Amino acid sequence: MITYEEAKKLIEKAAKSLPVQEILLEDSLGCVVAEDIISPISLPSFDNSAMDGYAFKSSDTVKARPGKPVYLRIVCTIKAGQPNTGTGIPAPGAASGMTAYKIMTGALMPKGADTVIPQEIALAKNGFLVFNNFFGRGRNVRYEGEELKKGQQVLAKGAAINPGTIGFLASLGKSRVRVFGKPRVSLVATGSELVEPGRPLSPGKIYDSNSFMIAAALSKMAIQPALVKTVPDKPKVLRGVIAGALQKSDILILMGGVSTGDYDYVKPLLQELGVSEIFWKVSQKPGKPVYFGKKNSTLVFGLPGNPASVFVCFYEYVYPALRRMMGFANSGLPSAMLPLQNRVRADQSKLLFLKGKVAVTKKGRRVIPLPHQGSHMLSSLCDTDGFILIPPRKTVFQTGERVPVHLL
Ligand code: AMP
Ligand code: MG
Repeated sequence: MITYEEAKKLIEKAAKSLPVQEILLEDSLGCVVAEDIISPISLPSFDNSAMDGYAFKSSDTVKARPGKPVYLRIVCTIKAGQPNTGTGIPAPGAASGMTAYKIMTGALMPKGADTVIPQEIALAKNGFLVFNNFFGRGRNVRYEGEELKKGQQVLAKGAAINPGTIGFLASLGKSRVRVFGKPRVSLVATGSELVEPGRPLSPGKIYDSNSFMIAAALSKMAIQPALVKTVPDKPKVLRGVIAGALQKSDILILMGGVSTGDYDYVKPLLQELGVSEIFWKVSQKPGKPVYFGKKNSTLVFGLPGNPASVFVCFYEYVYPALRRMMGFANSGLPSAMLPLQNRVRADQSKLLFLKGKVAVTKKGRRVIPLPHQGSHMLSSLCDTDGFILIPPRKTVFQTGERVPVHLL
């Protein structure tokens, strides 16, 4: 049996980032950018109005005084998206005319104009814009290149792509992006007792919760598993499923059947199929009989079937492996030292993962160990914000004592 730290190191060593791929922008959510990205355009790419209002040249209003207004002739309206060249009308500020344009938000500024007065405060009368005071230059205009210049680096290799990133890259006109590949994942739940939710339960059967839970965890990472299957404890059937999954997966996640029970076929089958064991059993609770192995470049995880074990082992071991393959530099769950909201008594020789809820109290952020910690119990998972790590051999943890928490 190895320690949690040793297990993490072995996984880190085995999980390498996948080859770079160029993919469609809309498929890139959750991926990691594989090269520095240079902007092909400036943003904004042209001077435009920040408001619905009137565009004019500020210096045309320099002589405006209360009682001595300046009149600018409103020549036409410029909509967003409209090129406003070649109107033949004297530009604002031109020697020939004191002109203004009605302009919409995002519309290209007319030649000569440098300022926009918002609709709400503008005085427009009989086709003229009336100023009783000088109106300062440059207000309500978004200038070309104000945010960034063409040729400038806008994202660095290693940046994670979130919905905002996708919007930003779209605003630069990018339709494809080079990212580290997304792992192909197969998810196999084993157990002759498993019934699909929605069907009736017969005596001795339980509903398969693990497949749904882990498929959802993958979906949160923007990973669509290539295979999700529930298999009874029949070695022949299981062998066929595992053999097929090994061929088309970067990561194979098996759930259940990895312990020492009479019908736990996963380990011997993996060995038969040429998967080399890297470790089996970690000194922890829940999830002690967790298995990790490798065949060629495919990583294989065998998670003990109790749902809390599956949940903890997924986030502590599989999640970092997936993230490393996807090119994330920080692959594990973020960690924080948080004070306990109540006293914890532990009596164990292994590292204990307690499901915890993080609450903001009058005394600041605290972590509450949840009830129903049994590895077969799922109700507390609804409220779990993270895992409290209770190190082996220390038995009492006082209220307020700081403990490491891995945050989901
Ligand atoms: P095993 O690791 O196969 O010995 O399973 C340990 C416990 O987890 C048993 O009580 C199983 O019935 C339960 N279990 C196994 N697979 C699942 C699953 N997919 N969903 C819910 N419970 C499961
Ligand atoms: Mg089983």
